[in-house]
Amino acid sequence: MTVTVRAPAKINLHLGVGAPRDDGFHPLVTVYQAVGLCDDVTAAPSPGWTLGVTVPDWMDADDVPVTGDNIVDRAGRLLARRHGIPARAAVSVTKAIPVAGGMAGGSADAAAALVALDRLWHLETPDDDLLALAAELGSDVPFALLGGTALGTGRGELVEPVADPSTWWWVVVPSAQGLSTPAVYRRFDEIHPDAPVEPPDADTTLAALATGDPERLAGALHNDLQEAALDLRPDLADLLEKGRRAGALRGIVSGSGPTCLFLADDADAARNVAGRLSAHHDVVLVANGPVAGAHVVTYA
Ligand code: ATP
Repeated sequence: MTVTVRAPAKINLHLGVGAPRDDGFHPLVTVYQAVGLCDDVTAAPSPGWTLGVTVPDWMDADDVPVTGDNIVDRAGRLLARRHGIPARAAVSVTKAIPVAGGMAGGSADAAAALVALDRLWHLETPDDDLLALAAELGSDVPFALLGGTALGTGRGELVEPVADPSTWWWVVVPSAQGLSTPAVYRRFDEIHPDAPVEPPDADTTLAALATGDPERLAGALHNDLQEAALDLRPDLADLLEKGRRAGALRGIVSGSGPTCLFLADDADAARNVAGRLSAHHDVVLVANGPVAGAHVVTYA
């Protein structure tokens, strides 16, 4: 039996960040949206544990660890330990989500691995338990299970679905060089030594989402990490400006960056913006959201 599970990249329509908590994590109020840029994780029976990773030609395979440190290895070990069984599977990951790009690609793979291995090992783990395991693996992993659009609180791991009946069109420009999420948070702390204990709320973004109007959403997009990301990568400011000149309603850094996102009026506008940005950037993608969280696509 072989199971393939697909899991989406996330973007943050609102990312409000507060002062670090005692445990070192930053409290967040965020609005996640799952977009149609997905990694696939395939699990098959095996006498031991193996992991393979395939990347598109625009990605550097060396950026993804394959020696036991991959978050998919951790997901497999955690699920097996929780059920008291040996972790035996041949797992392969087909990546499409930029690595270290602020789109939670590793988290998507972890969520997909939990779902695929749960099926392969016939575990039938209850949803709440799977969400709890996901939260142990990383702050963004529960959202990758849930998908759609959701409000994230805590350190991002507490997720609550948000009604979002529209389809939003995004142009996604990954960067050849990734940014370390911890480094961006460290810079945030330096820039904002007096950050509020309670992160800025997401009310404006949630109200804009409900209108279905891309101009309203463009005006409401908010990322507290953008300043820190631009400080570490000043070239991104230029890219954001180029996107605006190419016809995007608004450009924003995705999460901790360095991927940049551009909201467009509709599918045609997104393709136009992408076409113009392609003159300056090798990899320019178009994705829409919201899309489903980790889900089985092949079961044979
Ligand atoms: P974040 O969730 O912190 O925003 P990100 O989207 O910026 O993360 P990821 O693509 O999840 O970044 O990767 C962060 C780091 O995790 C990478 O630099 C890589 O070393 C490591 N990693 C472990 N497993 C994976 C995986 N399956 N895919 C990508 N990176 C992985």
